[in-house]
Amino acid sequence: MNFGQTSEQRQLRGTIRDFAEAEMKPHTLEWDETQHFPVDVFKKLGELGVLGAVFPEDLGGAGYSYVDYSIIMEEIARVDPSIALSTAAHISLCTNHIYTAGSEEQKKRYIPKLASGEWIGCWSLTEPEAGSDAGGTRTSAVKDGECWVLNGSKTFTTNAHIADVCVVMAVTDRAASSHGISAFIIENGTPGVRAGKKENKLGMRCSPTGEMIFSNCRVPQSQLCGKQGEGFVDSLRMLDGGRISIAALAVGTAQGAYEAALSYSKHRKQFGRFISEFQAIQNKLADMATDIEAARLLTERAAWMKDNGQNVNKESAMAKLFASEVAVRVTNEAVQIHGGYGFIKDYPVEKFFRDAKLCTIGEGTSEIQRLVIARQVLKSHAPGEKH
Ligand SMILES: Cc1cc2nc3c(=O)[nH]c(=O)nc-3n(C[C@H](O)[C@H](O)[C@H](O)COP(=O)(O)OP(=O)(O)OC[C@H]3O[C@@H](n4cnc5c(N)ncnc54)[C@H](O)[C@@H]3O)c2cc1C
Repeated sequence: MNFGQTSEQRQLRGTIRDFAEAEMKPHTLEWDETQHFPVDVFKKLGELGVLGAVFPEDLGGAGYSYVDYSIIMEEIARVDPSIALSTAAHISLCTNHIYTAGSEEQKKRYIPKLASGEWIGCWSLTEPEAGSDAGGTRTSAVKDGECWVLNGSKTFTTNAHIADVCVVMAVTDRAASSHGISAFIIENGTPGVRAGKKENKLGMRCSPTGEMIFSNCRVPQSQLCGKQGEGFVDSLRMLDGGRISIAALAVGTAQGAYEAALSYSKHRKQFGRFISEFQAIQNKLADMATDIEAARLLTERAAWMKDNGQNVNKESAMAKLFASEVAVRVTNEAVQIHGGYGFIKDYPVEKFFRDAKLCTIGEGTSEIQRLVIARQVLKSHAPGEKH
């Protein structure tokens, strides 16, 4: 076992931290209030190699491992979780779906542009009536000659309003249930596709979230991504990796709030003493620090397993479940340590508190993570089996 990080990984952490502190930190509150997504800053992440983090260099990627990618996500989220959310959807969902399931032609056409940040990606699975039960997708794709014609609407798509490329799941054979859903790559500007309502959210406000609407959207066969009927199954594989990035995002969110609370506790005086001298505050800080370390270890273990080609279905769900609940707990305590000032926008913790909640919902709720974990745990022990 090796719990240390390489000098390259320490350097990577430093580079992303410096970038986030310089380019994001001064603006995070303004972007949050105005729900403005800074496309220019996002494109600079492309120049740093972040947007193609886990893809090979011959496709324009940076060739980083998932452990490296977790470090990147953590450091972005430590300053602005909503930029991290848009980054995660771009890399782990959209680009990774094309990389994992797409043809060689599709990889060559899309991945270099997505990795550089020239194009922004989004990934549409969720529908108004099909959230946790995404197999209940209604959006359809019907074959018409050499083309597919898509109709339907997706909801809650991260990056919907800024995306150049959308990977969308649509039913191609209703009788085949979850093996009748296929993935399609739709370029912005294709007639019949548009972004719809942009959601006004509790947190993650600078990351645009909204509808993708398909109305008689006609695309050639070449836009089918992966095998016909396997889009949903491929989506579940995407989510296994995606959950590692959301877990890392949650760790970073908790870390940012914890650091702010630690610093505040060493400056704020009540009853003639710094509040960090009160045992009640020390207990909170100790629990927060311990929670964050445990969440980071689970996340990095899942990332390490993925790097080593192992199945991470259970481990990524565990990391995502635990880290997201830690983010909610830690940001809540960070607000509490700030007292009334934690409720005020002059301090960063109220934003971390609002942003953290998304982690227990996006890419599968905590309840769904428990279902995934329980399914794996029960699989290894059949009912009635003696041990
Ligand atoms: C900011 C944001 C960004 C998002 N980005 C994307 C994106 O880029 N692409 C995309 O496709 N989707 C995206 N989503 C959608 C997200 O993945 C879904 O919101 C999530 O999967 C939950 O679905 P739902 O909202 O329909 O809730 P529902 O599925 O209706 O769940 C409601 C409640 O019921 C519980 N529940 C449901 N089924 C069960 C069950 N079987 N057992 C126990 N409890 C259950 C849930 O845990 C939850 O508590 C995003 C959502 C948000 C808020």
